[in-house]
Amino acid sequence: MDIKLHDLYFKPYLSAKEIDDAVQKMVDDISEDLGDEMPVFVGILNGSFMLVSDFVKKYPKPCEVTFIKLASYKGVKSTEDIQRLIGITQDLTDRTVVILEDIIDSGNTLGEVHRIFKNENVKQLLIATLFYKPESYDKDFKLHYVGKEIPNKFIVGYGLDYDQLGRDLPDVYQLKTTQHMTNIVLFGPPGAGKGTQAEFLKEKYDLVHISTGDVFRYNIKNETALGMLAKSYMDKGELVPDQVTIDMLNKEVEKNADAKGFIFDGFPRTNAQAEALDKLMVSKDSQINAMVALEVDDEVLVGRLLKRGETSGRADDADESIIRNRIKEYYDKTAILKDYYSAQDKYHGVDGVGSIEDITERLSTVIDKL
Ligand code: AMP
Repeated sequence: MDIKLHDLYFKPYLSAKEIDDAVQKMVDDISEDLGDEMPVFVGILNGSFMLVSDFVKKYPKPCEVTFIKLASYKGVKSTEDIQRLIGITQDLTDRTVVILEDIIDSGNTLGEVHRIFKNENVKQLLIATLFYKPESYDKDFKLHYVGKEIPNKFIVGYGLDYDQLGRDLPDVYQLKTTQHMTNIVLFGPPGAGKGTQAEFLKEKYDLVHISTGDVFRYNIKNETALGMLAKSYMDKGELVPDQVTIDMLNKEVEKNADAKGFIFDGFPRTNAQAEALDKLMVSKDSQINAMVALEVDDEVLVGRLLKRGETSGRADDADESIIRNRIKEYYDKTAILKDYYSAQDKYHGVDGVGSIEDITERLSTVIDKL
């Protein structure tokens, strides 16, 4: 389950069990190296409190525990400015000191740690960190023990916070690359009114409308290679091949990296497209929230499309046999997607016959509940 802290959404990243394994690994490595020597473990507050507690409970030999508290100014000055709030309060002469850090990313804190211990005459200073971000570490201080290397993404939980929230969580969560989106598949046979309704819904919900049919027609008008390829299928009322359509759709989504969500109109039309769309959404840390389907009788569709053909200039609206082929393609290849989304409890059927306003209202009722 995703969580929200302040204004941001985070997704599960490491379970309590995985964290426990990483802590155990640190304990095993350190206790093996130190043998009977009694170390002083020094936690760096606030973030390391949970780690230190779990760590010393697992540590198999007697040990001492203390803390130092450092803070980096936020907002006002660069975070390179580390402020010492609680320093060393006991004599550490000739002792083996093991620093226990929750996370090391840029390594700024380590500089201050080394300054603090420079005059303490310790026997040795060892650095141990539960999490380590190699991609962002740019210092030369040696890291003696690492519980787990992690990618350079912002995490919270197990002592780590986002603006003071999240420290209490037993699991670790990762910041979602794409924040909360609403993604809707607007579904229905040709002529059901998807394009018309999408125009209203995109305004109302501040979503980006992607109509694969429109993108194909734009490419045909501009005589691109994609347009030429698509035209041969569209003119017969057949579907454009999946991979061509999927690649195009992916690009359209990439073009709108800041979108609050999408209305997909005319996509997906096959199982392969639906699966590709799910994959794309996962790569954005997101998902399809609902398929909202406009339900309209075939004969009404044919009538509507013939009427639209009088003004739309679309070759595939002009001829009744092509229109019937498009509807047949829908039932042969696309209608099964109702099952695909029903299986995920995401299918919502809406009566697509009535005034435009009434139908917008019906669709909104469904979307408002998401
Ligand atoms: P539309 O504007 O949605 O009615 O689409 C018009 C035509 O574009 C269709 O009859 C297909 O030839 C093609 N097309 C649009 N979207 C897709 C899709 N998702 N997969 C395959 N072909 C599509």
